Amino acid sequence: MSMFEDIPVDIGIIYEGERIRGRDMQIELGGPREKYKFELVQARSLDEIEDGKIGFVGPDIDGLEQGTNNPFGILIEVAGKEIEKDLEGVIERRIHEYVNFIEGFMHLNQRYDIQMRLSKKSYEKGFNSLRLLGEVLIRLFKSEMPFIEKIQVTFITDPVKVEEWYGKTMEIYESRDARARGMSDDEVDVFYGCSLCQSFAPTHLCVITPQRYANCGAISWFDGRATAKIDPKGPVFEIMKGDLIDSETGEYEGVNKVIRDKSLGEIERVQLYTAFGYPHTSCGCFEGCAFYIPELDGFGVVHRNYRDETVNGLNFVTISDLTAGGRQVDGFHGLSIEYMRSPKFLQADDGWNRVIWMPEEIKERIKDFIPPEIVDKIPTEKDVSTIDELRTFLEENGHPIVERWAEAPAAEAIEAPAEVTAPTLELSPGAVPIQGLPAGMGFKIILKNAKIKAEKMILKLEKGK
Ligand code: SF4
Repeated sequence: MSMFEDIPVDIGIIYEGERIRGRDMQIELGGPREKYKFELVQARSLDEIEDGKIGFVGPDIDGLEQGTNNPFGILIEVAGKEIEKDLEGVIERRIHEYVNFIEGFMHLNQRYDIQMRLSKKSYEKGFNSLRLLGEVLIRLFKSEMPFIEKIQVTFITDPVKVEEWYGKTMEIYESRDARARGMSDDEVDVFYGCSLCQSFAPTHLCVITPQRYANCGAISWFDGRATAKIDPKGPVFEIMKGDLIDSETGEYEGVNKVIRDKSLGEIERVQLYTAFGYPHTSCGCFEGCAFYIPELDGFGVVHRNYRDETVNGLNFVTISDLTAGGRQVDGFHGLSIEYMRSPKFLQADDGWNRVIWMPEEIKERIKDFIPPEIVDKIPTEKDVSTIDELRTFLEENGHPIVERWAEAPAAEAIEAPAEVTAPTLELSPGAVPIQGLPAGMGFKIILKNAKIKAEKMILKLEKGK
């Protein structure tokens, strides 16, 4: 008997990447319109857990109005003789993968940022209770991570309780993140790789170091260490960093070798502390993005929850599309919020001296880690809304970027090349619709040494997007 015979929908890796549009959804849990949402794994002692228990705080799916989004929390408690606190982050990150195995269930992002949708079709097939979701998760966790001896799952849908728990979970994430602060990449011989997102971005590999937190913001160097120890054949593994090639950009021989192997030769080199040249690749689950603003030769940074246009007129979704897919895109750099607290943050690009815009929410969160002499010189959406206003603000407030303009004539940075020679141009899956291509199957077009000349470029908004 299959492990999921009693579940009314199919379960399998082929459903990863399935997208559920608003009009096709029975219900949304969390998502960008909800302030309060979270997923949390907590390690407990064996006697604290009732193995297999599925609990509810608030109504089940039938008590939620069809087609609505709802505050939502999922708490998974695990126990086992080998389980330690450092494993929580990685177990938590697997929720994303396992929920996406369910036909008609979509899970995006992580931690305080989750968005989950159940399709009407799967609901009508009988997947009409979160209890079924709990059952699937418990079975997958126990079979994929045998060190979990006991597990219980609680779904929280009561809005007041979700809000209460949200506060607690934010404190827990913060204390996890703070652990690696103060450690340096130079003092360890081993980094950790995570290939979990290769199902979405086959050439992507996160390199997790003490000073460069994973892009999703969910896995620290300590989490990587604990996971690689307990599950050495799993998606999180050791990388011997090997000889240092360049301390400024953060390039290591051992890292390059692993990246080449894991990306099947697509990515040759990675420099950990820069957004130019050979930047760390970006899958699509990054918490935020640094984006180059060529007119002013500086970076804006935007996070996933920011819903308005950024100062250059693009919103997070557009910037994210330009960045994602496991590619190395000059000037577009997926990152975690915790990496912005690191002394190595964009070190090779002049770090904070080069950051010229960010949303207020993110600035408030990391304020204590921005050099005090710069913090008030970086404007937010409250201060400026166009590139011209941004330029004026930077000049009036003496942002260090202004000195940079003096050193390198601004015109050079501003001029967009009339003709672009692209040694390799890659179109990501989905960029070009191909009829008859099976759902979920990606493809890539590579134009080697192409010369592209355009008289005019027209950007049009598509209706409803
Ligand atoms: S973003 Fe990176 S660390 Fe996070 S799950 Fe994906 S590959 Fe792993």
